[in-house]
Amino acid sequence: MHVKNPRIPLAAAAAALVAVLALLLAPTPLRSRVQATALDPATTTPAGTAPATTTPAGSPPRPTTPGGTTTDPGNTAADPGSTVADPGRTGDDARLPGATEPGTLPPVVDHGPRTGGKVALTFDADMTDAMRRQLHGPNPPSYANLAIVELLERQRVPATFFLTGKWVREYPELTRRLAANPRFELANHTYGHAAFTSDCYHLTPLPRREMTADVARTFDVIAPYGGRQTRYFRFPGLCHDRTALAELAPLGLTVVDGDVVSGDPFAKYWQPIVRAVLSQVRPGSVIILHVTEANAPMTDEALPHILAGLAERGLEPAPLSEVLGDPARVAPRS
Ligand SMILES: [Zn+2]
Repeated sequence: MHVKNPRIPLAAAAAALVAVLALLLAPTPLRSRVQATALDPATTTPAGTAPATTTPAGSPPRPTTPGGTTTDPGNTAADPGSTVADPGRTGDDARLPGATEPGTLPPVVDHGPRTGGKVALTFDADMTDAMRRQLHGPNPPSYANLAIVELLERQRVPATFFLTGKWVREYPELTRRLAANPRFELANHTYGHAAFTSDCYHLTPLPRREMTADVARTFDVIAPYGGRQTRYFRFPGLCHDRTALAELAPLGLTVVDGDVVSGDPFAKYWQPIVRAVLSQVRPGSVIILHVTEANAPMTDEALPHILAGLAERGLEPAPLSEVLGDPARVAPRS
């Protein structure tokens, strides 16, 4: 496991203390709505001015019980060691892949061991307010690439999906379908795809005081779907600094960047995506792709070629937790 930021217990403990204090003293309620009005290049065309007041499509998900791989949130006693000031985290979460000791600076991971032949296909499901306006406007695009999901299902390919909370609320049925697949893992990509640093592409920065609650809330939105839950988290645009990491320390998670950037957002052709992936990929790689269709319209066309190229190289897609290795090694629990 390649960890970029070694744990720094003292600083992390201090950060955790600050975070806990911040939570206690926060002037805004923890569950306050996140204002993520990031503009996406792809959503700027029809100048979405009408801020459609929509009722989110997300009816409360019915808990799924996919074949034998779930952590059932109901069947374990709460872990007394991780209950205090752990927003978005229960005792069960400590056993999920990617779980780390709350209060420690989250490790940042790019890839797994360079031995063996496993690689992780990861798909981000972005959803900003601008995208939501498009969805509820006159000619709604699709931000859910079903062709990708169907191909993975058909060929029984494992994958890991980094979901934003707002995407889950727009696509509850598809989320249910992802959760029900024993080869798919679910991970966290923030609530509304806002930036966690001041300068992150075109994304609107999230105020520091809202960072912890934003990510905690997203775990809360994804958790009821069951399936292969994790404590993996990816920053929008991969943008993070020490401040952002410190804000997430109370949540006990692992930050996953990735070492193979496919460049699939807003691609016009599938060939460059395939070339980018196959030229960078190595054993242990974490490949970053998008399942957002309208904002990554060539990914489903690239995917069959990527899968064929991986097979030619003797590389086998696996769930992220398997590629990264024993999650206990990310942060040994005492
Ligand atoms: Zn993203």
